[in-house]
Amino acid sequence: MPNFEAMIVIDNIIISDDVADKQFVCDLNKCRGACCEEGDAGAPPDDEELDIILEMYEKVEPYLTEAGIKEIERNGKYVYNKEFGWVTPTLSYDKEICVYGVRDEKGIIKYAFEQAYYDGKIPWEKPISCHLFPVIIERGKKGEYDRMNYEPREKSCNPACALGKKLQMPLYEFLKEPLIRKYGEAFYKALDKAAKMHSGKKGNNKVTS
Ligand code: SF4
Repeated sequence: MPNFEAMIVIDNIIISDDVADKQFVCDLNKCRGACCEEGDAGAPPDDEELDIILEMYEKVEPYLTEAGIKEIERNGKYVYNKEFGWVTPTLSYDKEICVYGVRDEKGIIKYAFEQAYYDGKIPWEKPISCHLFPVIIERGKKGEYDRMNYEPREKSCNPACALGKKLQMPLYEFLKEPLIRKYGEAFYKALDKAAKMHSGKKGNNKVTS
């Protein structure tokens, strides 16, 4: 297991203290959903989400751009990246936007799966890695632990940090829904407790869910 100077541990999940300490609220009017078009590759779906993408695709296709559909027809609904494993494809000629990203009239990138979900067409919102960003989860090589880090986009997420401070919203609370989706209610309650303890004393906190 990695040795962090300050962290929270809940069962086999190692959480950077930034997740408890930082304040963050996405400010889409300022960042325009930049994380859908920045980065070294598309979003990495979990293994079980690959089948979900295949199953849901037909209902999501009407929400996609023509360029996105063509790219998917050429290379597939997800592609293999040597560094990141399976990822959603991107359009190399359009600032690497994810093929499932669609700009609205204000230029804000919306996620096609999410739009179909809100319209009641599909029961699945989006890959959990997208839902949790700017928190990134890495699994230990043998699956013996998950490591949770805070990795915001250097410039694009700055307005979210400012809005989080203004609203006094801790990052983990902003991400309550995807954290429960990923690890369940008991985990979230344990994290909430640990985060509150952590704000009183810095260091390593071990809690069980
Ligand atoms: S994670 Fe950052 S870039 Fe993505 S929507 Fe939130 S603030 Fe914008």
